[in-house]
Amino acid sequence: MLKKPYAWILAILLMLPGVGQAREQLGIVTFTVDNITAEFFKQSMPVFFDHGVPGSMYGQTEPIGLPGEIGWAEIRYLIERGWEFGAHGHSHDKMTEMDDARLELELGAPAAQIFRGTTVYPTSFATPHGAYDERVIERAKVYYDAHLTGWGNEGVNYFESTDHFRINREQIDNRRPADEVCADIEKAGREGYWLVLMLHRIGEDPSDAYENPTEQFEAVVKCAADLRDRGNVRLTTVRDALRLVPHTPAPVPEGDHQIAVTAKNGSSKGLVSITFDDATRPQYDFGLRIAQGYGLPGTLFIPSGLLRDRIDTPQGDWRLTWEEVREFYESGWEIGAHGHTHIRLPGLPPEEFEAELNAPIEEIEAKVGTRPVSFASPFGDFTEEIIASIMTRYDYHLSWKGNLGRNPINDIDPRYVGRLEVTNDMTAATVCGEMLRAAQNGVWLVFLFHGITEEAPREYEIEASVYDEIMGCAARLDRAEIIDVVTVKDAMATIAAE
Ligand SMILES: [Zn+2]
Ligand SMILES: [Zn+2]
Repeated sequence: MLKKPYAWILAILLMLPGVGQAREQLGIVTFTVDNITAEFFKQSMPVFFDHGVPGSMYGQTEPIGLPGEIGWAEIRYLIERGWEFGAHGHSHDKMTEMDDARLELELGAPAAQIFRGTTVYPTSFATPHGAYDERVIERAKVYYDAHLTGWGNEGVNYFESTDHFRINREQIDNRRPADEVCADIEKAGREGYWLVLMLHRIGEDPSDAYENPTEQFEAVVKCAADLRDRGNVRLTTVRDALRLVPHTPAPVPEGDHQIAVTAKNGSSKGLVSITFDDATRPQYDFGLRIAQGYGLPGTLFIPSGLLRDRIDTPQGDWRLTWEEVREFYESGWEIGAHGHTHIRLPGLPPEEFEAELNAPIEEIEAKVGTRPVSFASPFGDFTEEIIASIMTRYDYHLSWKGNLGRNPINDIDPRYVGRLEVTNDMTAATVCGEMLRAAQNGVWLVFLFHGITEEAPREYEIEASVYDEIMGCAARLDRAEIIDVVTVKDAMATIAAE
């Protein structure tokens, strides 16, 4: 899925309010700070915090927590104050001079470390010393959504021509009066582009180009906040700006394309499947809609006897209609069976038991036009004999909680595919981490979702915003070719082919 890069861009565009309207964009300014010390954090970051000015911090992960350096507690505090912490290598060495194995470590390790240290996956990456080439960028795409250069174009990025992997930024010139920098910020807002500014150190040595005077720094932050408060500019993190500024890929230079392709062929992939049981309304309103926005497929297990033909039948509107189920199918989803009446299978009289297995095949074939091959037992309740009967009619049987959803790709039992139920005590970061681990461990990870709600989640429900973040993460990892998000049926086909 998501093989077409434009599907992704479209998905992002569709989520933006106001896109398609012909009004001009209010420009964005993003403050970034690189390689800061504990002292900077203590003395200068409060200037941003006090004015409610967000931004993005980039730092290599190796020194985190060492004497004089910031630690994870500071980074978590930073995130609480509306900032983000992005990757900047592990050692801060020049990536262009590393061999492939070392490059992979320097790119991948910070993502894992930052995720572990903060539970927030870093979406962007700044190359140490601004040293990058095509090879660095292609491999960075595996882990990140965006790459910031060290400098370029005075930090100006246009809405219509920004490659998210070549975002320009510029060190604030320490010789310029704050008024002039302020005028740049105002201009970005007025002319409608994205200006990315950079700071390293605050101090009074004008001969050090990376050191900005305290007075200048404080005046610039204050003025930016004032302009923002007057509606003259938007101030955001890089992460948020990426949602507002479309990605316009720059053409890959001739000759470098091959490097990118070869690099990708070596990576191992995890398989991830999204499944829903019961065919309830929120699974359509949020489940399908949000997944569709990201171009992700899944498997919907339906109790065929409980579905309605039309939306205005008098049984209430809790269950989906056949028409809605067909919409799932037409969006690339697999339709599986979840019994006929959603009754527990063990202990049923033979005739009723047969009906629970046979009726879904007939009904789904008749109403959707596809024969179901996957079966999920209602309530996850089954015996060995029941599975044996199911397997005479279906190709795959899914349990509820088996294997915690982590099915080893080299040892799959089609009679007993385990699922991980996503519950409301899990964060999106936890679930995202599960997907990363699936890729590392050669696992087919199968998620089970029940209810999705915009209100406080009850048992068997998760918040729509969390579901959205999980889908976003799945789409990002899929696009980076770390995982493949596929239906149960397609996952089994992929596994069988290996
Ligand atoms: Zn640096
Ligand atoms: Zn169920």
